Amino acid sequence: MNFSSKLLENAVNEVSQLPGIGKRTALRLVLHLLKQPKERTTYLTEALQNLKEKVKLCKNCHNISDVDLCEICANKNRNDELICVVEDIRDVMAIESTAQFRGMYHVLGGKISPIEGIGPQNLTIDSLIAKVRGGTIKEIIFALSPTMEGDTTNFYIYKQLEDIDISVSTIARGIAVGNELEYADEITLGRSILNRIPFEGSLKQ
Ligand SMILES: [Zn+2]
Repeated sequence: MNFSSKLLENAVNEVSQLPGIGKRTALRLVLHLLKQPKERTTYLTEALQNLKEKVKLCKNCHNISDVDLCEICANKNRNDELICVVEDIRDVMAIESTAQFRGMYHVLGGKISPIEGIGPQNLTIDSLIAKVRGGTIKEIIFALSPTMEGDTTNFYIYKQLEDIDISVSTIARGIAVGNELEYADEITLGRSILNRIPFEGSLKQ
């Protein structure tokens, strides 16, 4: 791309670093912003800066939160004997939108992936195991996407919990392989949580 302006080129380069945004899309977005009143870009950059500087991770479930203990963990009406294990906040949002789950979450922050160099130590697995060992948890539900990485992660956690007397289940695999939780429709996802199956049984399939 030949830019007549270095300032424009810099802005396009920065925006095109975002996932899924090519140079052409970046140029369209930047030109759009350029046409907007100045406050728009101020709000945008301020929102991003505030997010980056002030956002926290809930000390209990590791979900993104503005406070030390997120709204879900702080809610006394939720069942803290039931923990749904998810990859990130998008899964929490997807499951919350089904209104079918009243337990708590544990956000791993990713999945075990040797190819990407992500091992158990890079995720919040230790904290999950410690929580299960020290607490009143009766059931763990795996809700990771049904990919090889998801399966590996489930199995790793399952092995760590083997000697503890709790139920381990996985959401029903009505969701097609490769589909991420956030794309599953609410009814399908809600049903797959209600119809969850024992994890051990899912291994034999
Ligand atoms: Zn929390």
